[in-house]
Amino acid sequence: MSSDRLNPALRVFDACSASEVVAADFHMHTTWTDGSASVVDMHCAAIAAGLGTVLFSEHARASSGDWFGKFAAEVRALPAEHCKALVGAEVKVLNPRGELDISNAVRRECALVMASVHRFPGETDIRKGRDAGYSEEQAIGIEFELARAALRAGGFDILGHPFGMAYRRFGWVPPQHLIRELARECARAGIAFEVNARYHDRPADMIALCREEKAPISLGSNAHAPEEVGRLQRVFRSVPS
Ligand SMILES: [Zn+2]
Ligand SMILES: [Zn+2]
Repeated sequence: MSSDRLNPALRVFDACSASEVVAADFHMHTTWTDGSASVVDMHCAAIAAGLGTVLFSEHARASSGDWFGKFAAEVRALPAEHCKALVGAEVKVLNPRGELDISNAVRRECALVMASVHRFPGETDIRKGRDAGYSEEQAIGIEFELARAALRAGGFDILGHPFGMAYRRFGWVPPQHLIRELARECARAGIAFEVNARYHDRPADMIALCREEKAPISLGSNAHAPEEVGRLQRVFRSVPS
């Protein structure tokens, strides 16, 4: 029932399973924000890595200026015969109501919008682990609530790196039942659960969990440099199952 709400561009991942991934990378950054390479160079890296489709999921905010339109035009100008390139934005979840930091101008340019939990409401600096003043349970609970609120509010296509703050900022492994609950919310909303090479050490396990919960999937390397493009597929092949 939720599947007909899924953005058709995400159908490329329908063939993914715990034993097979498709050659598409839907999480890349460029020199338009904090990446080290241009749109053209990242696209060349995608072709070299044998990828058939990529999403340029550039960081954006509601306050992003007209640079986003120029970025989008650059992506649309890329040749599509070897690797199709899509315009996207990665935006943060702002508050416990699940509102996103995005403008209509950015939305209009995007084939796909990714929403990620990047910090907790009210935080101005990012302190890691115990220094941040949260217990493990509190931090995981807040991250879960923000992600679930966003999935219930909707208005985007991909939940970026679920529990990324727990895994990488704090170094904590969230309980399986909460990961499953987010996957179920993704299934209900018709929003893809991103399996991300930078945050999820065992992508095959995450894909298996999503399949069990009938959650749509997106795969991302989180590439900020050409050599990172397609990393999800490489990690997938290198982790023993
Ligand atoms: Zn992110
Ligand atoms: Zn990112």
